[in-house]
Amino acid sequence: MENSFFPYDNFRTNQEEFIQFVQTSLIQKKNPIVEAATGFGKTISVLSAVLPIAEKFGKKIVYCCRTHKQMDRVMEELMEVGKKVEVSGISIKGRNSMCLHPTIVNNEMDTSMALHVCRLLRRENKCEFYENMKEKEDRAYEIEVSLSQKPSLSQDVVTLCIEENMCPYEVVKGILQNVEVISCSYMYIFHPEIRDNFLEGIGATLDDIILILDEAHNLSDLAINLGSDQLSIYSITAAINESIEFEEPIVSEFLNKFYDVFLELENDFKMESEDEVIISYQDLFTRLEGLKGPFVSKSFEKTIFDLIAYMKAIGEKVQKTRLKKNKMPKSHIFRIASFLENWFNARGNEGYCYIFEKTKTKKDEDTLKLGILSLDPRPITTQVLDFAYGAVHMSGTLEPLDAYSDIIGIKNPAFKVFPSPFSPSNIKGMVTKGVTTKGTHRNEEMYKKITLKAIDVIHSVPANVGIFCSSYEVVDGLLGSGIALMSDKPVFMERRNMDSRENDTLVSDFKNRSGKEGAVLLGVMGGRNAEGGDYPGNEMNTVIIVGVPYARPTPRIEAQIEYYQKVFYGKGKYYGYYLPAHRKLSQAAGRAHRLLSDKALIVFLDERVANKFVSKDIPKWIRDSLEYIPDSEEILKEKVKEFFQNHIDRFKS
Ligand code: SF4
Repeated sequence: MENSFFPYDNFRTNQEEFIQFVQTSLIQKKNPIVEAATGFGKTISVLSAVLPIAEKFGKKIVYCCRTHKQMDRVMEELMEVGKKVEVSGISIKGRNSMCLHPTIVNNEMDTSMALHVCRLLRRENKCEFYENMKEKEDRAYEIEVSLSQKPSLSQDVVTLCIEENMCPYEVVKGILQNVEVISCSYMYIFHPEIRDNFLEGIGATLDDIILILDEAHNLSDLAINLGSDQLSIYSITAAINESIEFEEPIVSEFLNKFYDVFLELENDFKMESEDEVIISYQDLFTRLEGLKGPFVSKSFEKTIFDLIAYMKAIGEKVQKTRLKKNKMPKSHIFRIASFLENWFNARGNEGYCYIFEKTKTKKDEDTLKLGILSLDPRPITTQVLDFAYGAVHMSGTLEPLDAYSDIIGIKNPAFKVFPSPFSPSNIKGMVTKGVTTKGTHRNEEMYKKITLKAIDVIHSVPANVGIFCSSYEVVDGLLGSGIALMSDKPVFMERRNMDSRENDTLVSDFKNRSGKEGAVLLGVMGGRNAEGGDYPGNEMNTVIIVGVPYARPTPRIEAQIEYYQKVFYGKGKYYGYYLPAHRKLSQAAGRAHRLLSDKALIVFLDERVANKFVSKDIPKWIRDSLEYIPDSEEILKEKVKEFFQNHIDRFKS
């Protein structure tokens, strides 16, 4: 097929092959699963591949991204395509980010909650921006038509709507029906309620859509989270207060009993801080039996269902009352009812387990939580992937592709791993022998040894270094060995439970040091900075990876392994335990290579990475550059210096 949508004069290495592969797969009704490093130019390649297919078969492209920046990036590339051929598109953010109504703007809420609040506001005619659109129908239509003919950023719509006093989200909904490409968050497609609303808005079914899933390695966690639910004892206390405020003695009595069940579980299982236990579906309801009041019937299931329905009705009454008083229309009673409904609906399904845990709050206080944990992403993913016209899955860290395909539940997959786009002089991986954080070797002496090797690297690197450890216990081990005191660069530490604003300041201060003497960012694999952070150019010249982040064998991990063992015979421990750790390791290792011009080093301070069992799961573009370094201080230092030798001036400039 053609690649006449590619807007640039020259292709980068392998981009033509990428386009060809995606097109051939989709035409053969296969779903391409592609690994290619950041810097490859995946966005423009995949757009150039899919646009002609969408045009030919009359399909819409929905491009799912993880961040707002990536969504806008898709539109920027589409604008380049637009210089060559006529195309249209829009990036959309969640209702919570685009809404102008003070109730949503001034209260932090997720997309799902914003949808709920928006519905209430519209139903009660309490949104002036929505009402205004109905009054200025012609003007709204005019705006929608003009924006439907080219690629636009959601922020442009928001700016225009502030001037016009109209709802940006509703204007975007009008545009969505007519554009060829929509870039949005995964939630628009994988959250069942948001998806229904979204598809209705664009007037399409899943079969009308070709999906592009960027950073697809996140999909299994996203689907597991969407299928899970959790309730803390604090929510019950808040609901009890609400039931007293709204004079609902039946609900109060039930909630007090529910509260006592939490304490009973804590006592019966002798829970210590950070403990968790798997309980049965029946366990909760047996403990609740003996309820009194008007809903008690012969069948306990009926009693609970009637009670849930009653609590939902009371919850809606609470929401409306709060809305009338211009307060956030939130109801804790409604929340508890929804949780119990989810608990009930998961009964008898092997893909779920029920968890009770004693965990820490952000303020480091103990709290009790009940949870419904989904063990399988497929009930969420296949609702979409089985019905979409086709889907392109891509990421810089997706290997092994067949495991990804199994876990996500992809029918007719087509696999392709592209080689590194980086020049060998810009990327090097080193696996250092003689060190490990393996439990049996984890002691003061080993931490000292790891710290000394890390210091050798820090002192030999021109500017910024990121250190990502397998756990906070390992971070503490390095700190205990004096890493912060020995480092000639200031150390910025990511802490447990750090809130996002505090973390943003920390990362920004770290990045600002890249033009000076450099700095060290110390955090954990799987944490915010190791998974989502981008550190292009000199913002991170070297990543040091300490350990392999295998999880503690907690009851939920055991349940995951056991479940996968049943559904993917013989692969339970690999899919449920080893592979998630290897993916976290790969994510952290790839942080420093964001642009093709980035020159950065990746140092693994754990000899287990040299085992094929681990290294085979590291992306090919990193794996191909790996060198094994003997247990010698001098050799490690020399190798690091050698890598940066001819580039010191560039880093200092
Ligand atoms: S209609 Fe628009 S402005 Fe009004 S609440 Fe909903 S999203 Fe916000």
